[in-house]
Amino acid sequence: MPSAAETRNGLCDGCRHQRLVPNTRGSVFSLCERSREDPAYRRYPPVPVLSCPGFEPRPGQPAGSSS
Ligand code: SF4
Repeated sequence: MPSAAETRNGLCDGCRHQRLVPNTRGSVFSLCERSREDPAYRRYPPVPVLSCPGFEPRPGQPAGSSS
């Protein structure tokens, strides 16, 4: 069961390109790894992300899963 911090970012929470980055104040930010190679993607996209052409499901996670 994901924590609340892992379920508020929309599509990114099920995307293999997401990396969760905690800060020193206890917040967790959703970083898009695609931004490293493709300037079309923002390093920290505004969440929740509802639509993204770069979305790819994480291994073992069915596409379109929102839980
Ligand atoms: S590719 Fe799209 S859905 Fe995946 S982490 Fe980046 S912004 Fe989120």
